[in-house]
Formats: sequence, structure tokens, C-alpha cells
Amino acid sequence: MIDLRSDTVTKPTAAMRRAMAEAEVGDDVLDGDPTVLALQERVAALLGKERALFVPTGTMGNACGLWVHGRHGTEAYAHHDSHIVNWEIAGLSGLRGLQPRMVQGAPVMTLDTLKAAVRAPSKHAPTASVVCVENTHNGAGGMVTPLAELRAITEFARGTLQLPVHLDGARLWNAHVATGTPLADFAACADTVMVSFSKGLGAPLGGCVAGSTAHIAEAFMARKRLGGGMRQSGIVAAAALHGLEHHLGRLHEDHANAKRLATIIADGVSDAQVVPPDTNIVMIDLPARLDADTVTARAKALGVLISAWNARRIRVVTHLDASPEQVEQAARMMVKALA
Ligand SMILES: *Cc1c(COP(=O)(O)O)cnc(C)c1O
Repeated sequence: MIDLRSDTVTKPTAAMRRAMAEAEVGDDVLDGDPTVLALQERVAALLGKERALFVPTGTMGNACGLWVHGRHGTEAYAHHDSHIVNWEIAGLSGLRGLQPRMVQGAPVMTLDTLKAAVRAPSKHAPTASVVCVENTHNGAGGMVTPLAELRAITEFARGTLQLPVHLDGARLWNAHVATGTPLADFAACADTVMVSFSKGLGAPLGGCVAGSTAHIAEAFMARKRLGGGMRQSGIVAAAALHGLEHHLGRLHEDHANAKRLATIIADGVSDAQVVPPDTNIVMIDLPARLDADTVTARAKALGVLISAWNARRIRVVTHLDASPEQVEQAARMMVKALA
């Protein structure tokens, strides 16, 4: 089976497992785990932030960011197709009492679509406490929001709206590699940034939330409250450090594989709409004669695992554990599945 359901399906490499086995550890809740501290410093430096905090999941990283900025009974601006809105069990409202103010329109948030979502001031209307952006954007097929657009959003948020920005950067690594934009330039557009190690970097789990010293002190308490204080977590932080060291620089291979797969399918199936990938996620809108469950079942029978994104759309993701040859083979099988 070639598993292209997600870039989360990767297993730790032998070298990553060695790094984990050899990690120096301590009690991170008591007085700090040396490997966790090293990871947090590395991530803070990469993102140009004062501090970073290791979290077990990207979802908890987003929850910490929302905890820091959110005020109970206010709104959070978020794209209607964002991870925070669709895939985190309504944590923003369930945990922080925030109502999502959905930004509609383009496949990712833009300055214009954010502006269009702003309510006219009224003593009867909710106020907002945070703007959430996502880069790359999962639901839009790993789409990159270029630095200029992100800066325009942030200037409007901080200036006109007087609001902080939280960046869901689970795949910010991919945006960086695809564009050459320094990670710190993207991160400067946000007050808190979540990054994930368990996607393209190939670690078994984990992420960081980064920001100012004051924001991360608050995030630390939020993490504890959410049950995310971890003891000898250097075992996992070592995997993240290994991923940063050895797998960040190879993400362009995933992007090239995704482009190749998209081309083979677009050439081979005339009536499927393949969204040209910016990074490692290929979305395919199906012709009316097919539904997603049929296509995923056919692909599985041909040895390829893919996701049904919705009834009319399938998602294919390239990653560390799928070689160029396997991705080509998968693309050829998918042409058959879509025939
Ligand atoms: C995967 C993902 C998350 C959540 O990360 P987990 O570690 O799975 O909790 C958040 N945002 C985006 C855009 C993601 O793709």
C-alpha cells in the first residue's frame, strides 16, 4: 500500500529513533528537560520570537494561542475552511468561549475577504479579540499565503481592527521552502505562531507555540490547564530537533512529487479538476460521474490510500515515506481509479 492520506502517516526513521533513544532528558514540569529546552530555543530562533513552548499536538498549540488572545464572549476571525474551524472540535468556543467570525470567499483569507467580514460597529454586535490565519492552508490544498498578502492582513488586523494575530503554521515549513521566504518573516506577521513537527518533518507528534515572553508565559499556563505538562518529553523533542535538522531541507522533494502527481492525473483524466499544488497537498475535484467514496475505494483496491475530503473532492498528500517512484505509481493507479 502507498499511503498518501496525509503527511502525518510517516513513521520515525531509524536515525530519528536513535536520536530519541539517545536524548538527554529531565522532568520538564519540575525544572525543564534539556532537550525540550533546546528545541524551544531552536524554534524561537527560527521564528524570530522571544520564546517557544513545546506542545504535544498542533491542536493544543492553537488552543494555547487562542487562550492567550481570546476573550470569552467575543469573536475570532477565521477562514471558514480553516483547521481551527473545521477540525478541532470547536475548541475555540468549547475551551475559550469564542464565536468564530467566518471569513468567506477566496480559498484562503485575503485582506479583502477579511475586510468584508468586519461587522459595522453597533452596541448590539459582538466584538472580536483575535484574527486567526493559516499558512499553508490545508483545506485549500496546501496553498501558500505569500508574505505580501499576510503582511497586509496583519497591518489591517493590528492597525484598523486593533487585534492580535494567531498563525496556525502547522505547515509553515512548507510555505517557507516553497517560497524561500524566511520563517521569521512569516512569523513576524503574527503575535503567536503554532508550528507542527508531525507533518512534513516526520516526527511522531508535537508542535510548538511561539511568541513574546509574556504571551508564552500565559501559554505555559494554558498548556498546563489543558493537561499538556509533560515530563521526560525530551524523548519526543529529540525527534522534532532531528526533523528540523534533517527533513526541513528535503520538503522541496514532497512539493516536486505533488506537482508530478497533479500533472499525471490532470493529463490522464480530462474531466477531473486538479488544483495545482503550491506545496505537498493535491486536491482533486471530481467529475459528476464519480463520488469520493467510490474513488477512494477503487484506489485502495489498486494499492493507494487517499482521503475523501468531501463527497466531491479527494485529497492526496506527499511526504517523507513516499518516494518519487511510489508517488508516480500512485498517480498512475489514480488515473485508473478516476477512469
Ligand atoms: C494537523 C494540523 C493541525 C493540528 O495538528 P495536530 O498535531 O494534528 O493536533 C492544525 N492546523 C493545521 C493546518 C493542521 O494541518
